[in-house]
Amino acid sequence: MDGTEYMEELQLKELLEELINDGHIANAASIGIAKIIIYEGFGRLSSTQQDVYNKYILPIFDNETTKCKICQSTVSELPTSDKYTLITTGYCPRCEYNLSKED
Ligand SMILES: [Zn+2]
Repeated sequence: MDGTEYMEELQLKELLEELINDGHIANAASIGIAKIIIYEGFGRLSSTQQDVYNKYILPIFDNETTKCKICQSTVSELPTSDKYTLITTGYCPRCEYNLSKED
């Protein structure tokens, strides 16, 4: 695993933790799998667990329908570190920042 992959996995773990805390990942099996990734790493998932991940967890933050209300960026396009803001606020971090400046 090189440095970039390490950073990406770290960001994925953070994202999964936030999604669990906020109830976006609510199904018991999905929570269990997310916790394996958080505590042991993605590589520790069995192929069955990876299937559950791809089917139920990945679509939460990798889809074409969750879009920023302003710039229309999809959650798939955003880097891992920016996805949570879009999922919870409906805006990508850049648009959310611009909005907050207007207040
Ligand atoms: Zn935006």
